[in-house]
Amino acid sequence: MGGGIYGVMLTLEAVLRGLRPLLLERHDFGGATSFNSLRIVHGGLRYLQTLDLKRHVESVQERRWFLANFPDLASPLPCLMPLYGKGVRRKSIFRAAMLINDLLSINRNDGVREDRSIPRGKVISKAETVAAFPDVDATNLQGAALWHDAAIPDSQRVVMELLRWAAHYGADAANYMQVSALSIKDNVVGGVVAQDRESGSEWSFRAPVVINSAGPWSEDMAEKMGGKADRWFWPSLAWNILTDKPALSECALALTPPRAGGPTYFLHPWKGRLLIGTGHAPWNGAVDNPSTSGEQIEATLDDINASVPGLALTPANVERVFAGLLPAAGPHSARLSTKPAVVDHSKSGGPRGLVSICGVKFTTARRVAAHTLDKVFGAKRAGGGSGSPRPHAAQAWQSGTVDFSDDGANQRYREGLGRLVADESPMNLRDVVFRRTDLWESPDLALRLAPKICDSFAWREDRKEAELAALGEELARPDSR
Ligand SMILES: Cc1cc2nc3c(=O)[nH]c(=O)nc-3n(C[C@H](O)[C@H](O)[C@H](O)COP(=O)(O)OP(=O)(O)OC[C@H]3O[C@@H](n4cnc5c(N)ncnc54)[C@H](O)[C@@H]3O)c2cc1C
Repeated sequence: MGGGIYGVMLTLEAVLRGLRPLLLERHDFGGATSFNSLRIVHGGLRYLQTLDLKRHVESVQERRWFLANFPDLASPLPCLMPLYGKGVRRKSIFRAAMLINDLLSINRNDGVREDRSIPRGKVISKAETVAAFPDVDATNLQGAALWHDAAIPDSQRVVMELLRWAAHYGADAANYMQVSALSIKDNVVGGVVAQDRESGSEWSFRAPVVINSAGPWSEDMAEKMGGKADRWFWPSLAWNILTDKPALSECALALTPPRAGGPTYFLHPWKGRLLIGTGHAPWNGAVDNPSTSGEQIEATLDDINASVPGLALTPANVERVFAGLLPAAGPHSARLSTKPAVVDHSKSGGPRGLVSICGVKFTTARRVAAHTLDKVFGAKRAGGGSGSPRPHAAQAWQSGTVDFSDDGANQRYREGLGRLVADESPMNLRDVVFRRTDLWESPDLALRLAPKICDSFAWREDRKEAELAALGEELARPDSR
């Protein structure tokens, strides 16, 4: 229940273990928190700072899994942190950290294609830092730490390819299917009742186990279903800002503004553009509506301007804000929880067969899914797909690589869209533009292709008009929900 990255990974892991999963998502797959991530698969270096070796090792393994299984959608992302010799941000300390990081991730490239492999980290000189990041504040600069995470620029395609993989081996998944109640007999789960949001009809699905992976809604859903437990989701607001400025470097930049307690931001060179992440604040509003205030955006831009002399970002440079809710470490806190919640509700008197999960990172969703299934069904066999490889991707959807002035390429892309409508169950134009392709990044192109996409759905004229209007509105919105 819940088709974000956690529900999708559960579905894949389950089918690869010989189970028969059914995924129900009330909107579109991957359209909530999972659409709004910074699109980085972390390699775990940050966890060395708190000596959280478990998280470090897990992140390295998951980064390797993405690079090995999605060489078409994941690639090494060089990351650079300028060092000014303050606190632990010294060259000597980072030399040691890079060495430990490399030793702990000695198997980081097992099964990974040569051109997707992660090089060793290093500390570079001041001159090399300026060459890699010309706008760096050079006053007192000593050099920089350089290491690699992985980027998944088209994370929405990763979600869809995971689902295609799961479906290839027999999993079922339905979007626009909202779970409303649990079927229970003698306090044992028998399945769920769900509403088809397209037709309005009600469906009953039988299942001995229901896993609630509804992200920010997981606690409310569990409560509604009689799943008693201690709280696990104190909402914390997180946001990224996509600007109209070009990226400042080919590296992701880890920058900390020169103010007491300033957070470290990651400036992701996302498709050559400056994508700023991640701002955090406590959240006391409804979980349905995570949104940032003007002050929060301005404060983030101020921090970035203070970190990069001469950048002078203003709200007019903001193209889109990606916001979502994540589990905090406690009430009214912006600090994120350090571990995922996996709650077996039968342990506290709730129905047997109802389990809730909620994680903190896109990066580790597969691991949490595997751990959950081990817990519920026993460790039948390792997941990960070594014996059930990912089927070949039908088409690359990076529209930036298509020459639309070439009739043949244009025609092939349009035909691909038709197949995609038939194969990947989008229910409306926005599903195609935002969650099946990258067309949302180029609103003019999206609007030009939209009538053709409508033809693939074979809608009547009035539906077509409504869809085109809704797409226009969504493309003009400054945030993604
Ligand atoms: C700004 C930001 C930046 C981030 N950056 C990164 C990053 O760079 N790297 C990283 O690893 N992680 C990152 N994360 C974290 C990561 O995005 C989340 O941990 C992850 O997406 C959570 O996925 P989820 O499946 O739990 O939740 P969601 O994606 O929210 O999915 C839950 C789903 O449940 C569905 N649902 C709810 N109720 C019902 C119901 N009744 N019936 C059926 N379905 C229902 C919802 O519609 C939703 O689609 C970031 C998060 C944010 C917000």
